[in-house]
Amino acid sequence: METLPPDHPRYISLLMRDRLISGIKDGITSQHGLIAHGRGESFDYLLSEKTLPSANKAAKSAASHLALAKNPVISVNGNTAALVPAEIVELSKLTGASIEVNLFHRTEKRINKIISHLNSYGATNVKGISATSTIPGISHERAKVTESGLYSADVVIVPLEDGDRVGAFTSMGKIVVVIDLNPLSRSSQLATVPIVDNVSRAIPNIIHHFKNISNLSPEELLTLTTTFNRDATLEDAERIIRNGFLDLYQ
Ligand code: ATP
Ligand code: MG
Repeated sequence: METLPPDHPRYISLLMRDRLISGIKDGITSQHGLIAHGRGESFDYLLSEKTLPSANKAAKSAASHLALAKNPVISVNGNTAALVPAEIVELSKLTGASIEVNLFHRTEKRINKIISHLNSYGATNVKGISATSTIPGISHERAKVTESGLYSADVVIVPLEDGDRVGAFTSMGKIVVVIDLNPLSRSSQLATVPIVDNVSRAIPNIIHHFKNISNLSPEELLTLTTTFNRDATLEDAERIIRNGFLDLYQ
């Protein structure tokens, strides 16, 4: 991999592309993942690659849900593992959330590679291999989850998830935090907490908020979750993507 100059105006964007290319070479990321990332980049460009104030509120709500959860689980796919492995491990350790590898294009070989990759960043007990439970309403391979992880989780964080499974998770009564740059994707539309932001900014932002709310009472945490307005968040992101930033800070 060529060395990226950190002063390049598109440094982070290029760094993320390099991580995905390495992910492909290492058998972690699927080729379809590159296309999905390209779609995400185009939305991020229209957001000036910045976290919207509304996405920041969503990240704070997500942190509050994590603080209140009994069995929180972070679902990791090939793109997330390649893009933000260290941040996923940090969030897991900080919050006590489990990590479960859950792939759209599922193979045991790729799951094992992703687990080894996360382990190299300090993860332990990553779930996903003995996936003997199934998500109701989802067909075959894509439905496989572990009983102690995604199946029984009360709060799930699903970055870059496909819409079907987000809908299935919400139908199971779970609180579903989606990280997706497209406010119109079915995933965002069906989420309990849609964070319309790049996963590379959203995960560190949830970590930041979790640290700041650690001394709040359960009642105060609950208020943070109930006052969050998901429809307003989605509308805000769509409005800014369509109309630009001019009125954002007025
Ligand atoms: P659905 O409507 O079922 O949700 P989809 O079109 O979202 O389907 P994919 O093609 O798998 O399904 O797209 C993945 C989604 O992830 C896209 O909405 C894209 O904007 C988003 N995405 C890609 N890369 C990132 C990223 N780095 N951070 C946040 N979102 C991303
Ligand atoms: Mg989606």
